[in-house]
Amino acid sequence: MYPELLAPAGSFACAEAAFAHGADAVYAGIGKFNLRAHSPNFEIDEFGELLKLAAVSGKRVYGALNIMPSDDMMASIEDTLRQSVDARSVPAAFIISDPGVLSLIKEICPSVPIHLSTQSGCFNSAAMKFWREQGVSRVILPRELCIDQIRRLSRLRDVKTEVFVHGAMCVSISGRCLLGVYYGGRHPNLGDCPQPCRIRYRVTPIDTDDNRRVNGCQHNGFDVEETGAGVYLLNSKDLCAVEIIPGLIESGVSSLKIEGRNKTAHYVASTVRVYRDAIDTYTASPSDYKMKDWWREELDAIDHRPYTTGFYDGDPIKQEIFSSKAKAGYRLVGTVKAVIDGRPVVDVKNVFSVESAPISVLPVKSAMPFDLTFDAILELDGAQTQRARPNRLVLLDGCDENLRVGDMLRVRYV
Ligand code: SF4
Repeated sequence: MYPELLAPAGSFACAEAAFAHGADAVYAGIGKFNLRAHSPNFEIDEFGELLKLAAVSGKRVYGALNIMPSDDMMASIEDTLRQSVDARSVPAAFIISDPGVLSLIKEICPSVPIHLSTQSGCFNSAAMKFWREQGVSRVILPRELCIDQIRRLSRLRDVKTEVFVHGAMCVSISGRCLLGVYYGGRHPNLGDCPQPCRIRYRVTPIDTDDNRRVNGCQHNGFDVEETGAGVYLLNSKDLCAVEIIPGLIESGVSSLKIEGRNKTAHYVASTVRVYRDAIDTYTASPSDYKMKDWWREELDAIDHRPYTTGFYDGDPIKQEIFSSKAKAGYRLVGTVKAVIDGRPVVDVKNVFSVESAPISVLPVKSAMPFDLTFDAILELDGAQTQRARPNRLVLLDGCDENLRVGDMLRVRYV
């Protein structure tokens, strides 16, 4: 049994992209009680529409209710759960962090499976057993475990495991951090981290002896590297586990998860396309698994910090925090919404012209991206236009490749 590929859905567009490009399931925030306060999230009626979208293609949706709420939020969370049940907008599972929210779910919708968020920090088998006894059916393991530890925890019966394979990491243990509170009065465990760990700091030399005595502890300070981009003291690299997918699958996990509910539909499509092909490649012939050039090219072309395999190979130093942000290699210019008489109808997001060709296509059906050229851009009435403008539909005439609904068109940054 191979693991599911689980993708973030901060919006309908992201969910559509995830399903079209090969995700088995998505996770999405219900209302504001989840750890992405600044992604659009889904109100209860919208969540119902998302469930319908998933059902059409036989996919699953998990609902994130994983903040760590204070007492005054609990009544609203209870309301949200009761309204979800009344509206029949109940996900395939709830993702929770807080035992109080778990109790509410068991009381209000006891048949819905419960997944424990990575935020709860379940690091050992005794904790796994504890959560299983509380009714948790899947534990999303901390990113701070190595593959051997993941394997041991995944062997326990009756509770499944999920791990992250791609996306941002905290320099703290999955949001157990108050930097955002000190920096801007915003709380990571309420989904509102302003990420002060990502910004540039200036190191000012002060008295060295004092510097080495902090609250009675002796330490030797950090070696920091100043690059042309400045000094990044706490900014973790991004997780990218595509090269170690075999080890993660063989560890027995049930779900491989991509981080990023604040990301764009293009980011979701691109990461899902790569990890779908990686899982399928392993499934077809485990012993022949090796990195494909286009996986690395595709992942290098999306918005990201420098990549790392993080803690998975047992070396915490690998998290490598002193990093700046890598530039994205592509700009999404449009998505194919229909094909009429062989001409793709493109929903334009950013300006492009015939001179923009070749345009890179992230396809929904075949695995690899390919280049596209075309002769002309047409308005829907057939008139030729020099430039495709945002928020309009245009036709592409004389394409040298057949496109399908859902294919994404990108231009490379120079
Ligand atoms: S400030 Fe950085 S380390 Fe702290 S919770 Fe936010 S993202 Fe994580």
